[in-house]
Amino acid sequence: MLLSTALVFSQEKIDTLMMQRIKDEEKNNSQITTIAHNITDVCGSRLTNSPGYNRALDWITETLKDWGMVNAGREAWGEFGKGWNNENCNVAMKAPYYQPFIAYPAAWTKGTAKMIKAKVVVIENLDSANIDKLGDTVKGKIVLIKSGYPAIKSAFNTQAIRHTDSSLIKMHDEHMYGRKEIEQVVPFLEKMYKTKLYLQSKGAVALLVSTGGSRDGTVFVDGFFGYVKGYEASLPELIVAREHYLLLQRLMADNKPVELEINVQNKFYTNDLTGYNVVGEIAGTDPNLKSQVVMLGGHLDSWHSGTGATDNGAGCIATLEALRILKALDIRPRRTIRIALWGGEEQGLYGSFGYVKKHFGDPKDMVLKPEQKNISAYYNLDNGSGKIRGIFLQNNEAAKDIFKVWLEPFAGLGATTVAINNSGSTDHISFDAVGIPGFEFIQDPLEYETRTHHSNMDTYDHLAIDDLKQAAVIIAAFVYNTAMRDELLPRKPLPKPERFAFDFDFPL
Ligand SMILES: [Zn+2]
Repeated sequence: MLLSTALVFSQEKIDTLMMQRIKDEEKNNSQITTIAHNITDVCGSRLTNSPGYNRALDWITETLKDWGMVNAGREAWGEFGKGWNNENCNVAMKAPYYQPFIAYPAAWTKGTAKMIKAKVVVIENLDSANIDKLGDTVKGKIVLIKSGYPAIKSAFNTQAIRHTDSSLIKMHDEHMYGRKEIEQVVPFLEKMYKTKLYLQSKGAVALLVSTGGSRDGTVFVDGFFGYVKGYEASLPELIVAREHYLLLQRLMADNKPVELEINVQNKFYTNDLTGYNVVGEIAGTDPNLKSQVVMLGGHLDSWHSGTGATDNGAGCIATLEALRILKALDIRPRRTIRIALWGGEEQGLYGSFGYVKKHFGDPKDMVLKPEQKNISAYYNLDNGSGKIRGIFLQNNEAAKDIFKVWLEPFAGLGATTVAINNSGSTDHISFDAVGIPGFEFIQDPLEYETRTHHSNMDTYDHLAIDDLKQAAVIIAAFVYNTAMRDELLPRKPLPKPERFAFDFDFPL
């Protein structure tokens, strides 16, 4: 038998020959660029329940089947709500002179019925008192919210960074949104949404917004509530590149006659409100262990201004490739290996949380289903396109020595850090909430925070292909090791019943 086994401390065994075979398969037969091209360039942006999202569900299903995976296909997790797609977006200044603008609609907002030409009014702050102050002047106008960031500073610092040895040592808690914080944020967003409906009722024809900190034509988009059944869409809302936004703001302050032309066409889809994930498996082969499962994944949904390459095409690309590597090596895992790519992450981890509720239990009562004890671990990748530098333990001390041994063959690839810390705000949290070991890898930041996350620059060209290859190899290794070891991965004590951080009933 071709099994070379190194016995290291903690007696965690590692199949070094298999680790080499995984590296070789990626080096010689990588499909990373093919997967990346299809998920981003070909499918397009993947806002949950949009046509692009559905194209991606179908492409992944077909691809998993082509690779020989079993049980491949979309799986409903509950009700998400309306789909939405931007089909046309032209925004230009017509007076005092012509200037086309970089702008994107906020998701799930209305389009204009036709091309509109209108004057601009500035509002000091978007609240009902300031809307009332504008009185009738708002009728038929485009409203610009005065930016609190009226100057763009020079960009002296590089945008892309990698971790250094010292930044890895200091690897501090990523900010985790707890229930309490989200309980404050959601009503605030709901108030903003209602304010926009009020502005619409006063006769404004469109709203312009910008995001502080954005620059160089990069636009960060979002959108709230419009997908929820029972919520009507608010007025056409354009998120405008800050350079163009501030140009408008200065002209308005100088009392120049400013006129814009806007043609935004958005389409809503209401025939199927169901939310879907996509899953596929390599079946386990050990009669005693094949009912146990190792899971891996990331979220498939994206925002709509780019093609969701780094958020989170990257996680889908790397985990799909990890699964392909293991299938190509015909590993015959003892436990079943299951990939799950989630929908609705950007709106509140809906896809993964819906899956967890359906299969494992609800954190709010902790009444657990039998499947809960069969999941050894869930590995998530959702911090951009940077290579893997290690893994967050999510406070699971008992997994520390195991992961340290598993990372040893990859020290040469830069992955060495096992951090006890939590990492927040993505899909492994749904698993952690019901006591299933859920882990997020530590990744090099690259230009994720500065440039691509939720932006119009989140496109194929901002993927670091070699980094994704490295990530696929390490994920394949962790999944393989989890599938083959004698025991399930150790667990933390079960959490106390508590409503999941993102679990809200709409309408509020
Ligand atoms: Zn993400």
